[in-house]
Amino acid sequence: MINCGDCAKALNPFLDRELSDEDVIQVRSHLEACGGCLHLYQFEESLRRLVRVKCQEQGAPATLRERITLQLAIERTKLEQRRPHTL
Ligand SMILES: [Zn+2]
Repeated sequence: MINCGDCAKALNPFLDRELSDEDVIQVRSHLEACGGCLHLYQFEESLRRLVRVKCQEQGAPATLRERITLQLAIERTKLEQRRPHTL
């Protein structure tokens, strides 16, 4: 059985799924038995979720810009194709 210090140290690799099956079982059983570490685990997990959402939000303007750039390129191509007929 691992103690709280070991559990805290294992928390990040646990969330990153970098632990061996044996260690995962150790951490899980400690979290079931220890409310303090479970609370820490839930905090870390929600923090990660928040970071992930924030990253996606920051990614949005780039994809939007890409879409606008693509749309402009299509419009420009249309204009260029039309030009010989209008001239
Ligand atoms: Zn603990």
